[in-house]
Amino acid sequence: MDNTLITIPFEDVYPAAERYFLATAGLNRENSKHKRMWIHALAIYEEIRGKGEIKALIHHVIPEKAEGRDFYFRGVKISCNAFERIQLDNVNGAYFYIITAGDAQTESEQVIDQLYGDIWGTSIVDAAREKIRDRIISMDKEKDENSILSDSFGPGYYGMELLQTADIFRIIDPSLVNVTLNPGGMMRPQKSITGLFLSVKNGEVLPPATCENCIGGSSGCTFCNRWER
Ligand code: SF4
Repeated sequence: MDNTLITIPFEDVYPAAERYFLATAGLNRENSKHKRMWIHALAIYEEIRGKGEIKALIHHVIPEKAEGRDFYFRGVKISCNAFERIQLDNVNGAYFYIITAGDAQTESEQVIDQLYGDIWGTSIVDAAREKIRDRIISMDKEKDENSILSDSFGPGYYGMELLQTADIFRIIDPSLVNVTLNPGGMMRPQKSITGLFLSVKNGEVLPPATCENCIGGSSGCTFCNRWER
């Protein structure tokens, strides 16, 4: 199994996590009215940092078959609208990933603390995804220096259904980072994310950022004007 397990220090993700947090919470550190809120948000971050642990698992797989919006990895079908226009012959491989922030949550029952804790947790795993994408680009360049890495495809993005998490977990082993899936399809710990990056040959056209929020549709990309070629 081609698995890479990484522990990411909180310091490494902080700058990007702070940027995501401020954008999501609508806080401006230069605004004097927001100063007290920001100091409080930082106290919640410190609590979370003391309890969480950021781990990432990366698993490299080569897709064996493509049919429309379906790619097959070791017999498991992963469906994503954005796969529809990607030529299988131009795909070098896929890097599946799971990132978890572990027990990164606040013990406080105050609503504002819960809200800040939730935004920090999401910001931390999103920042960690940026980090592992950089790491994967380096790994991929060792295999083919001309390859291009896609953005992340995953449940809820680019027209991939949330239920696909269970299928992704048949390809990458979540137990290696202590992540589980409950009967409702939710990952535990709660601040965990999964998906895949595709490595493609230089020249293959990847979906634009405007496709990220694709909600799908029965006719797929064929009659959709968001992705012009
Ligand atoms: S937004 Fe349109 S073009 Fe983009 S992936 Fe979805 S269906 Fe395809």
